[in-house]
Amino acid sequence: MRKTSYRIHRNRQPKKADPNKSVEDIVRELQRAHPGRSDYRERSLKIHGFICARCGREFDQKTSHLLTVHHKDKNHLNNPPDGSNWENLCVYCHDEEHSW
Ligand SMILES: [Zn+2]
Ligand SMILES: [Zn+2]
Repeated sequence: MRKTSYRIHRNRQPKKADPNKSVEDIVRELQRAHPGRSDYRERSLKIHGFICARCGREFDQKTSHLLTVHHKDKNHLNNPPDGSNWENLCVYCHDEEHSW
C-alpha cells in the first residue's frame, strides 16, 4: 500500500480565549477558518457598518482589519448580496463565536 506523505500538520488546539494569543494570531486563525474569497468583506462592512455586532466596538478604516465578517449560518458559500447572512464581528467576538 502506498502511503501519502503530504500530511498537513495542524495543531488542533482547543479554542479558548487565550490571553497570550496575539491579535495577529487570531486574525490568522480566522483567515484559516474562512478560506479563500473575502470580497464580501467590503460589502458587509458597507452594509452593516464598522461596528461589531456583538460587543458594539466601533472601527474605522485604520482598524478595520480587526473587524471580520462572520457567516450566521456558518456557510461561507452563502453570500446573499443583501448581507443577510453576514455579521460584522471584531476578531475577539469572532474567535468566541468559533470556539464552541
Ligand atoms: Zn466584538
Ligand atoms: Zn465566522
